[in-house]
Formats: sequence, C-alpha cells, structure tokens
Amino acid sequence: MHQLSQYAAATTPADQPGLLAPDTSGMNFYRADPALTDLLRIHLPDALFRHVEPHLDRLGGLAGGHLDECARLADRHVPELHQRDRFGRDVQWIEYHPAYRELERAAFGEFGIHAMSVRKGILGWPETYPVAAKHAFTFLFNQAEFGLGCPINVTDGCAKLLSRFGDDALKARYLDGLTQTDMSKLTQGGQFMTEKEGGSDVGKLTTAAVREGDHWRLSGEKWFCSNADAEVVMLLARPQGAEAGTRGVGLFLMPRRLDDGSQNHYRIVRLKDKLGTRSMASGEIKLEGAITYAVGRLDRGFVQMAEMVNSSRLSNGVKSTALMRRAHHDAMAVAQGRVVFGQRIIDLPLARRQLMKIMLATEQALSLSFLTADALDRAEAGSQDAAALLRILTPTLKFRATRDARKVCGDALEMRGGIGYVEEFATARLLRDAHLGSIWEGTGNIVALDALKRAVGRHGADAALAADLHARLDDCASVPQAWRDRLRALTDRAIGFAREVAARADNEAESRRATSLLYHVASAVTLAWESGRIHDMRGDARRLLLSRLVIDHRVTASDPFRLAENSAERTIADHLLGERAVGMAEVGELVLAA
Ligand SMILES: Cc1cc2nc3c(=O)[nH]c(=O)nc-3n(C[C@H](O)[C@H](O)[C@H](O)COP(=O)(O)OP(=O)(O)OC[C@H]3O[C@@H](n4cnc5c(N)ncnc54)[C@H](O)[C@@H]3O)c2cc1C
Repeated sequence: MHQLSQYAAATTPADQPGLLAPDTSGMNFYRADPALTDLLRIHLPDALFRHVEPHLDRLGGLAGGHLDECARLADRHVPELHQRDRFGRDVQWIEYHPAYRELERAAFGEFGIHAMSVRKGILGWPETYPVAAKHAFTFLFNQAEFGLGCPINVTDGCAKLLSRFGDDALKARYLDGLTQTDMSKLTQGGQFMTEKEGGSDVGKLTTAAVREGDHWRLSGEKWFCSNADAEVVMLLARPQGAEAGTRGVGLFLMPRRLDDGSQNHYRIVRLKDKLGTRSMASGEIKLEGAITYAVGRLDRGFVQMAEMVNSSRLSNGVKSTALMRRAHHDAMAVAQGRVVFGQRIIDLPLARRQLMKIMLATEQALSLSFLTADALDRAEAGSQDAAALLRILTPTLKFRATRDARKVCGDALEMRGGIGYVEEFATARLLRDAHLGSIWEGTGNIVALDALKRAVGRHGADAALAADLHARLDDCASVPQAWRDRLRALTDRAIGFAREVAARADNEAESRRATSLLYHVASAVTLAWESGRIHDMRGDARRLLLSRLVIDHRVTASDPFRLAENSAERTIADHLLGERAVGMAEVGELVLAA
C-alpha cells in the first residue's frame, strides 16, 4: 500500500512502551466492532451479509490505518481555490492534497459507497444494496474521514433525485457519471440550497431562474456549497413570476461544464475557512446566468429536494455515530493502556462511569441508525407504515445522535488528557468534525421541530412509532416480561408527551426535550429487541443491559442527593466493559435488580 507519510509508523505505541497510551492506529474498525456484525446479521439477508462481510473487513482495516493517515493529512493540507490556470486562462480549479484524492479513490472507486443503493453490480453484488448495508460502509469509512462523507452522500443523493424525478434525457446524460466507480468517468454531486437570506428558512431564497429554450438561466448567490467543484449540482431557485415561499421554488440540475467543455456561468468566489471538515471544499458561489435544467415538476421543487435532505439526515446520523464509535475506540485504548496512580484508567470507578457514558450514547445511535435505515428500505419497497415510521425516526435520529456526538467526542478527547487536545491525535479532529453534524441539513431546533410539529403534529407519525416499538416488544419473548412491560409503559408516555407538545403552539419550546425522549425510549426498546436476537444467535444478551442504562440515565429523572451507583450497576459496567458473552438469565436478573 502506498504510504503517504511515516506518521503512522512513528506513532505506534511500541516506540514508547508504557509512556503514553496507544491510539487506534492499526486497528481494524470492523473486527473491533462485534455490535456492528450483530446488527448486520439481524438486518440483512444471510446471503447479502456473507457477501458484504469480507468487503467490510477490508474497509475496516483500511479505515484504522491507511485511510486514517490520509484523513489526518487531508485535514492539515486544506483545499485551495485557484482562479487561473498556468496559461493565464480564467479557469477556476480547486487543488487538493494527494491524501484527499486517495480518500476519494477508496470511497468512490474501490468501494463505490456513493453508488451502492442506485447502481447494480457494485462490489460484485448483482442488485442494488439496501440502505442498511450501504450505511455499514458509511459507518466504517467515516470513522477515518468525515469530510469526504459529505461528497459521497450528496453524490448518492443527486443520483437518487435524478433517477426519481428527472426526465429520460437528463438521466441519460448525467446518471451514469454520478454512479461511476471508474474515477476517470465519475462526476461527483453537490446540493446547493442555503443562501444568505435563509438556511433554515429556505423559502426566502432569492436565486432567480429564467427560461431560455430547453434550459433555465440562474442568477443569484449560494452561501454554503459543499463539494464546491462538484460536476453535477442539484439546487433550488425561484422561476420568474413564481409565488413567494417554498411553494414557488423549483429544483434544477446544474452541470459544472457546458457542452463545449467550458465552465458553466458560475464562479466559486471563495472557500470557507471552517472549524471542521477541513479536507473538503465548501464555497460561496455566484450564479451569473448559469445554465441549468428543471428536474421534475417545477412547483414541487422543494418537496422533491426534501427527499434528498431526509436521506442526508439519515446519513448524518450514521456519520455522527461513526465519530462516536471512533471516539469510543480511542477512549478505550487510552483507558486500557495508560496507568495513573498505579492503576489502569479503566479500573478507576470515575473513569469507568465516563466510559459507560461514551459507550451508551454510541450504542444507542448505532441501534437507531439501523432502525431508521431499515425503515427507509421498507418504505422504498412500498410499505406505508414504514414510510410513516421513517418520517418520525429520521429527524429524531438526526437531532439526538448529532448532539450526542459533540459530547462523546469531547469526553473521549478528555480521556486522553492534554495530548488529546493536540492535533497530532485524531481526537481533536473528531471533536471539530462532530460540531458540524447538528448544523447542516437542519440545525438542532429545525429537526426537533420537524419531528414534533411535522411528523407528530401534522402527519400523526407517532402512531407508526408506537406500533413499531410495541411490535418489537412482542417479538423478544426471551427478554423478561417485567422489563418489556416497563418499556411498553414508557413508550406510551413518551408518545403521549410528544402528542401533548405537538398539540399546542405554546408548547414549542419543549420540542427538543420531547424529541430526546422519543429517541431514548425508541433506543431502549430497540436494544432490548436486539438483545433477544443476538442471544438467539450467539448466547450474548448484554445489549439488554444498555437498555436499562438508557432508562436509568437518560429517561428517568434522578434525585441528585441519592447515591446512584449500586452493586447491580457496577456489575453491569463490568459486563459491558468486558468481552465475555453473558446469557439472558444473568442479564435479565441484573436488568430487574433495583
Ligand atoms: C460546513 C458547512 C457546510 C455546509 N454545506 C452546505 C451545502 O453543501 N449546501 C447547503 O445548501 N447548505 C450547506 N450548509 C448550510 C447549512 O445547511 C445551514 O447553515 C443551516 O441549515 C442553518 O442555516 P443558516 O446558516 O442560515 O442559519 P439560520 O437558519 O439563520 O439559523 C440560525 C439559528 O436560528 C435557529 N432557528 C432557525 N429557525 C428556527 C425556528 N423556527 N425555531 C427556533 N430556532 C430557529 C437555528 O436553529 C440556528 O440556531 C453548510 C453549512 C456548514 C457549516
């Protein structure tokens, strides 16, 4: 494998035995994650699981080594915008570090993550992949590199939008490039919505579209354009004379190059100097009569784009989960490898509590990522119930997982001590990247309002969530009845509270709390359901312990003056921080212990 620097070799812990804690260098992120394997075995048909596993194993190894090194370099050597070529022609181009190019080659060329759910035949599988399988690749790749996660996802989203709403001529022209794994033919995608006037309030956008024969000319300015030099961009603009607000907004496809090979009539004015995702170019773009093509019905532009936004929100949830898993691995490596006051960190009670918090949020997010991906797969197969479930799960996952990632990555950084704050270790980059998840594709407030006002208030999608969670509780007979009853009651309370909040405009300020409760209860039920399945597969019921911890620490209000930790909780931590499988009888007793 081509080595871009000697960095990884120089930092292996063997160079400094016992002095500083090791990091995750050289770890295989697939092999280090038995929960991922378990959930894949639950959610994928057996033949597909057997097909993807060797590929995930390979990606897991690369993500823990070579790709991680590329990510570190690409984060340091950020993209640079050039206005002219060396012959003095006014041709704009962005220069990327070779490490970023290598990340692109792996994601788009070798694994084809962007094309998996659109094009048949990727990695030798004769069909397209279910979203649950694709996001296993997203999850592993993003543990190394989060910045490129955006271009992968928007390329996927553009292809889906085009195949769903584009006319035949447009598809014939652009679909192949968006789903190519041959790097010389690949045309990456972009999604430009945000303007200075409005990111959340997209209906205020001022970019104007004027018809000219078979195409439209666009004038205006886009304020946040990730993957700024994308060859195929989906964007929103207001056709001349259309009404105000989101109803008057159309969806357009904008190619970077015109038929004669010249650049389309828009300029990248500058690149943003960002806190995180520094490897990837986000720019400001001036549209100066750019040639574009209408996609789908002009008066449905916003609704159509919302499909891309929703699948990006799921992707965001998965990517934030990836950051948490990486942070979790790092924290465990430190806790097991560093000795303080004569003891390993992992053996100290207060540190164990911190590790459990990191683990809990990570596992919740992993479970709900799979639940949401599975709902999307079933919705696309035609299930109305799954479509309703998806409507509420997507913003709920996006809201809580992206927020938890900020805290988890910060806590893992602190576990490494002062050196965790230094850019030489991945922890600083993880923390910077983690802060983006809850901003793009809808800030925390916007997605919480989406879950409460739209999904619950307008669509009544809470009924689908309640039905799904109850069905899962019926479907895990090996889990103690008393725990399932408790979860059933809490599910009903969380749904009831969400309805109450959604019912009145003056309850709006409670939307975030209500969304968090839905998330926590849904994850506690899902963890219990998974524990039954995993126990059947390989005799390990420990995920049920996480279900109890979710209820104890994230749902139930505790008395701050009560000593919270008891012997049951200490035993739970021992089991979860250890590696031994534990059967349902022992786990069941612990879950029901006071
Ligand atoms: C690195 C990066 C890359 C990005 N890439 C892209 C891209 O490729 N394409 C793209 O289109 N956009 C992109 N964005 C833009 C991003 O999606 C927007 O910044 C985001 O949606 C917020 O919009 P805004 O910046 O206009 O903030 P505003 O909408 O002005 O929000 C400001 C604050 O007001 C709050 N707020 C807004 N409405 C409400 C409400 N009703 N109730 C309560 N609070 C509210 C928000 O939660 C937020 O805290 C990117 C942003 C970043 C940081």
